[in-house]
Amino acid sequence: YTGKSSTQLLSESIKKFYVKDFQSLPSLIKEDVSVYEAITKMFLDDVGTLFIMNQANELVGVCSRKDLLRATMGGQDVHATPVNIIMTRMPNIAVVFPDDLLLYAANLLIDREIDSLPVVTQKGSAFEVTGRITKTTITRAFVALIEDE
Ligand code: ADP
Repeated sequence: YTGKSSTQLLSESIKKFYVKDFQSLPSLIKEDVSVYEAITKMFLDDVGTLFIMNQANELVGVCSRKDLLRATMGGQDVHATPVNIIMTRMPNIAVVFPDDLLLYAANLLIDREIDSLPVVTQKGSAFEVTGRITKTTITRAFVALIEDE
């Protein structure tokens, strides 16, 4: 008997969950693609958020479902408007690193009121996207917590 409460044990398990062990594949597009192409990509990849890169494959923005909905309601030409006009851009992007605790990522999702985080690695002064963490990731980790017991 360890003498530890169940809450202590649970907390210890959660602190063994790292971003790199739970991340999924990111859905990436270049900043010059049209809003129309971005919507198509979102459907094909079955994701709710796209991460936007420049020609050097550096993270420059994020585009959510509502960003795309807003763009289609504004009366702009979805074929002529590039996604970099409507995206949320750097440096206002919340990111996580592979070695961050999953608990930190979960807190970021809540604090920033967003669905998804790019997992990044430093590339000079910019970021390269290597994965993603979503609310579904956190749900999966929640289940793993019970099943790993
Ligand atoms: P939706 O808008 O489809 O509900 P989100 O709640 O994730 O999806 O996005 C809300 C807003 O926050 C959008 O404008 C989106 O561009 C932005 N956003 C999404 N993810 C991030 C992030 N990781 N960092 C900064 N902004 C983000």
